[in-house]
Parts: sequence; structure tokens; C-alpha cells
Amino acid sequence: MKKIAILGATGSIGRSTIDVIKRNPEEYSLYAATGNKNYSVMAGIIREFSPQVVVMTDRSAYEKLKEIVQTEHRSTEVLFGTENLNAVAASEEYDGLMSAIVGAAGLRPTLSAITQGKTVYLANKESLVMSGHIFIDAARRFKARIIPVDSEHSAIFQCLPEQEQERIGRCDLKSAGIKNIILTGSGGPFRNRDVATLDKVTPAEAVSHPNWSMGQKISVDSATMMNKGLEFIEAKWLFNADPKDIKVVVHPESVIHSMVQYIDGTVMAQMGRPDMRTPIARAMGYPKRTVSGVGELDFFVNSSLTFQQPDYQKYPCLKLAIDACATSQAMTTAVNAANEVAVYAFLDNKIKYTDIYKVCAKVAGNFAAVNAPDLESILNVDTLARSYAYNELALL
Ligand code: NAD
Ligand code: MG
Repeated sequence: MKKIAILGATGSIGRSTIDVIKRNPEEYSLYAATGNKNYSVMAGIIREFSPQVVVMTDRSAYEKLKEIVQTEHRSTEVLFGTENLNAVAASEEYDGLMSAIVGAAGLRPTLSAITQGKTVYLANKESLVMSGHIFIDAARRFKARIIPVDSEHSAIFQCLPEQEQERIGRCDLKSAGIKNIILTGSGGPFRNRDVATLDKVTPAEAVSHPNWSMGQKISVDSATMMNKGLEFIEAKWLFNADPKDIKVVVHPESVIHSMVQYIDGTVMAQMGRPDMRTPIARAMGYPKRTVSGVGELDFFVNSSLTFQQPDYQKYPCLKLAIDACATSQAMTTAVNAANEVAVYAFLDNKIKYTDIYKVCAKVAGNFAAVNAPDLESILNVDTLARSYAYNELALL
């Protein structure tokens, strides 16, 4: 029985993780869960699983949850704040950590788990985008195991030979006979939309992803394909890949979740329905396969698979992130920070969809030559890039 801790248990990935746990009561128990504002979802988790400890990072949500737990005489300990978040992530008491907080807030607690040598199921790609070199270096030093959860990276992981699966962060793709890795992406809701009309799209249109059901921020990132750009950076770190050997292919049906091309011409692809419970079950169960609740792929419904080149006119954020990846760690941190600020401004109807790229490009350009060798300087870049992004918003 594996004891699981979930950072971001109330979110989209968190709830899918809970669902996989529920379907495999012999395999998993829930040791800890963390959330931010959504105390009512967390109260439901406490009633169903009685985790040992729960952390809320929003003060008023913490107070409301604490009251519910006291009134109902529940045994779960309810804690408040980011210090406790980091402490729970560093705990000895669990076997695997699902890292599923959205955005930069996921970095510190995930690193706390890494520096304790834990097994981390990584959904929070932002932590690798922000601090890939520090993160991977810490995983190596503290002998932590990282198993990808992002569907593309789970697909690549599954297409790798076993010896490479055992050394995520330190893979030797050349010696494994791998020529390149191919990230697929659906192209989002605006794939067929005229570029000239993109400045008119609404947040509701941007978050209605054709195939996947996800949190709001990542849904906008899928529309701009910034998500694929962040995944490009994530892939570089997870698989120790040269950016030249990472390709992006638009695949609107989202049946193939990514691929690995070998030097003998073989292409290994992982396929399945677009449901995050598959990569979650693969990560938590590894090396064992468990049920996930995801049904079989129906080849007669999904009878045609198509592929396109990404159009950088339509997806300039993708190009920006790929360029940042080849430039510097500070630049990828800045792209991520500016994108977070811009996406939430767009979701609040404060800026146009096309402004997301403008803000990111303006901010990122300032950080190309910045050296950010340690966590403190990374966090400084993150803060500075956010303040530049707010300035850019004010200028629009
Ligand atoms: P979400 O918005 O649905 O959930 C986010 C979770 O993080 C919630 O539990 C929320 O309470 C918590 N949270 C938010 N801000 C916080 C803060 N400041 N401090 C502490 N906790 C905070 O997001 P999601 O779609 O589940 O995505 C989570 C992560 O997984 C992201 O990094 C995303 O890129 C990645 N991911 C998601 C999907 C998907 O299908 N949803 C797929 C691949 C990767
Ligand atoms: Mg993904």
C-alpha cells in the first residue's frame, strides 16, 4: 500500500488523482492533501479519506475548513500556510507526492520533496520551467525519483527503454538510440481560426478545449500553445534532451500523446483517450499497471489521425518559449512568470487574447542575458518579471 500526498488536491489533476486512488483501495491511501481556497471540496476529501493532514494556503479557507472539521469531530489535522505546505511535502510519512499546484507556487513545496529524496509525480511543469537545472541537480544529489504526469511526458516516458525510465533527469538519449522526441499538441480551440480575428476571442472561448478538460490557466496556455512551449522546456529537463532533438507536431485528435523516434526509423507512440487519469495511474503505479477509470480507445470512432506543422504566426508564444529554452534559464523563468500574469489578466477581461504574447515577449527580452544560477536568483527573476509584466499591462 502506497501512502500518497497530493499538492493541489482540489484542482483538476488533484481530483483525477483522488479518483484513481478511490478505484485502487488496495494500492493507495491518502496521507495528505493541500489546497488554496476551495475548502468545500477539501471538506469532501476529508470526509471520504480521512487524510492525516491537510494544508490550506488561503487564510479564510483554512478557518472555514478548521471549523467544519471541529464541528464534525474529524481526526484530520488542518494546517495553514506555505511553511506547512513545504513541511508536509518534506514529510517522511508518505511514499509518493503528486505535485499538482498550478503555477510558480508549486516550486518550493515540490523542491522540498525532492531534497528529501522522495518520489515525485510531476504535473507542475512550471517548477521545471523555472528552475530546471536546480531541480534536476537536486533530484540527482538527493536521489529523488521524478515520474512525469504531464500527458506528453508520460507518453515519452512510456516509449523509453526501461533503463532510461529509471534515470529521468539524467537520460542518455543518444546511447539509447533515440534520434528525437516528438511532442504532440491539439492546436487548441483556435486551430482553424483566422489569425486576424484572434484579438476578438473571449476567455470562455479560450478555455473551451476541444479534447481535454483542465484548469483555466492551462486551458488558455493550450489555446496559445504556450503550454506546448512550457512542455518543450519541461521535456528538455526531464529527458536531458538537446533542444534541437525536440520536435512539436500539431495532432488535432489528441489520440497520440507524444512519440519517441529511434535511429533505426522506429517511432514509438503512446495512445489513449485524452484523460489525465491514465498518466496519473501510470506514474503512481509505476512499474505496475493499475486501473484508472479510463475506457478503451475506440479505433472506429477515432479512425483518422492527422498531423500538421505548428504555425508560429498563430502560436507566437510557442516560438517564444522554444527560443527561451535555447537561450537561458532566466529567460524561461521570465516567460513563465509573464505568462501567468498575462493569462490571469486575460481571464479577468483586462487584456486581449493577443496581448498575452505581447506581454510575454516584452518581458522575456529583458532576461535573455541574465545569469540565475541558484534558487534565490531564480525567485528574484520571477518576481521582477511579474512586476515588468504588470507594467506592460498598464501600458496596453
Ligand atoms: P487547477 O487550477 O485545476 O488546480 C490548481 C490547484 O493548485 C488547486 O488545488 C489549488 O487550490 C492549488 N493552488 C492554486 N494556487 C495556489 C497557491 N498559491 N498556493 C497553493 N496552492 C495553490 O490546475 P490543474 O489544471 O489541476 O493544473 C495543476 C498543474 O498540473 C499545473 O501545473 C498544470 O500545468 C499541470 N497539468 C495539468 C493538466 C490538466 O489536465 N489539468 C495536464 C497536465 C499538466
Ligand atoms: Mg500536457
